[in-house]
Amino acid sequence: MPKKFFNLRFDSAPSQDSVGGAYLAPEGQGLPCCTQCDQQMIPFLQFTLPVAAQLPFAEGSRLSVLMCPEHNEIPSFESFDARPLPPAYWEQGEGHWYASLEKSQAMHRVTGTPTLQPAELVLADAPADEDYRIAVGGAPDWVQDDESFTCACGSAMAFVCQVSDGFEFPKLPDAPEQPDSSSAKSYVLFLGNEVYVFACAQQCDPRAVWITVQN
Ligand SMILES: [Zn+2]
Ligand SMILES: [Zn+2]
Repeated sequence: MPKKFFNLRFDSAPSQDSVGGAYLAPEGQGLPCCTQCDQQMIPFLQFTLPVAAQLPFAEGSRLSVLMCPEHNEIPSFESFDARPLPPAYWEQGEGHWYASLEKSQAMHRVTGTPTLQPAELVLADAPADEDYRIAVGGAPDWVQDDESFTCACGSAMAFVCQVSDGFEFPKLPDAPEQPDSSSAKSYVLFLGNEVYVFACAQQCDPRAVWITVQN
């Protein structure tokens, strides 16, 4: 599977593949709320899987990764490397983030509190910045030891994308500073760790997405 990259373009209103902006949600769903503070989460990454990355999922599936604007911890302290994830593992996380891989369906735009500077995710063969990149497809570049995951349904979890350690998501000038960010002008995802996103290769549930971090 070829590895591709998403570069950020800020000069126009983003379409469906974006950082920030309105959240494209399945019909009948809104923005998920943080279980720790009840604030609406903000979309950090949302995109339709690019055909060019040849990912092993249903064509037209959309990945979304949202996180609370205030709660910025890592997704899990527990390692599930080499043993199956527990049933409904997506309901057992810390509750300050939300991830889904939705099959192609009717979606609608949900606008929350404007926080991140909206940017279009532009697919490219090379990253705009080698040190700060969003890679999609191919194999994960592990900072530490390799990890692999098995879904609760028994299927392998397939790698979807990776966000570099320290990758900054610029905020709108009027938006509050993110607690525990390394930058006053940007938000980071999961404390700015290297972020790896996997999803159940059988897509047994739209929430069958697992995120692990390393640094
Ligand atoms: Zn929160
Ligand atoms: Zn599964």
